[in-house]
Amino acid sequence: MAKRDYYEILGVAKNASDDEIKKAYRKLAMKYHPDRNPGKEAEEKFKEAKEAYEVLSDEQKRGAYDRFGHAGVDPNSGMGAGMGSAGFADAFGDIFGEIFGGGRRGGGPQVYRGADLKYSLDITLEQAANGFDTEIRVPSWETCDTCHGSGAKPGTSPKTCHTCNGVGTVRMQQGFFSVQQTCPTCHGTGKEITDPCTACDGVGRIRKNKTLQVKIPAGIDDGMRIRSSGNGEPGVNGGPPGDLYVEIHLKPHNIFQRDGDDLHCELTIPFTTAALGGNLEVPTLSGKGEISIPEGTQSGKLFRLRGKGIRGVRGSYPGDLYCHISVETPVRLSDEQKKILRQFEASLEQGGAKHSPNSKSWTDRVKNFFS
Ligand SMILES: [Zn+2]
Ligand SMILES: [Zn+2]
Repeated sequence: MAKRDYYEILGVAKNASDDEIKKAYRKLAMKYHPDRNPGKEAEEKFKEAKEAYEVLSDEQKRGAYDRFGHAGVDPNSGMGAGMGSAGFADAFGDIFGEIFGGGRRGGGPQVYRGADLKYSLDITLEQAANGFDTEIRVPSWETCDTCHGSGAKPGTSPKTCHTCNGVGTVRMQQGFFSVQQTCPTCHGTGKEITDPCTACDGVGRIRKNKTLQVKIPAGIDDGMRIRSSGNGEPGVNGGPPGDLYVEIHLKPHNIFQRDGDDLHCELTIPFTTAALGGNLEVPTLSGKGEISIPEGTQSGKLFRLRGKGIRGVRGSYPGDLYCHISVETPVRLSDEQKKILRQFEASLEQGGAKHSPNSKSWTDRVKNFFS
């Protein structure tokens, strides 16, 4: 008989905190405690909850359970049965985790958790800043109508696998110790289909697409993932399904670059504005903003608009918007304009280093370098 999912037993979500798990267990323990509830059923429930709590409250065991299902935490499975030495198993850690995979339980076929699925979602900066609800189409599986999930052609039925005798695993000799592996013939199902169903090619299920509602929280950033529990691939032999991860990709924006909760933009201004100063309209995600450019502003000057960035997923304050000033030199001047500029140039020279302190000190340094 397949064991129930530990999260299901405690009635908590897969991402439940330690506190939530503890609370859920306490509630169940009170409800089914044998002292208050004589009888077989309550006793079973109490044991079930205790076992689930013992695994989920232990970080390491919980990790193993999330990866391999019950087989990952069952002392009778995999390593224990094959080697009979827990210390040896620990020393090899993950390597044996991979080899033994789901392990075996009570001689029945192997139970596997379904694989996780990844879905990439491209969103705009505005969508990331404000959050939105969307629908995505993801693959899902339905039991095949033709064979009702058996995978065998109607009128025939699956036979017990001849390689593993229905156990789902085989033992292989590797060097000086024997290793238990998933049966290569039946891939752990313990059954062999001689006459596969034509509708599903013997798989027992048919891939279809389903529509999922996804809530994208405001402030989400590039590379973040949203987990949709249980919407991954289905498990094998009654194992729990995997999860679906929606990975966020931020499309480039034509004005803003995002850096965490801050935004950056380049503001190109005419050299006259830079010299004379003035008020400048700047775009922000929440509408128009304004900055006042002082006289004599140089290229590269940074102006900060407080709170005009993005409020992160967990942030309580929004970031800032940084405007990087770039001064534009005028091009395609008419003869008349050039004449005016030369007169202007001459007037600057009369002021000595006063009007261009940076250029003056630079020229002096170059002169010193050559002399
Ligand atoms: Zn079928
Ligand atoms: Zn087999």
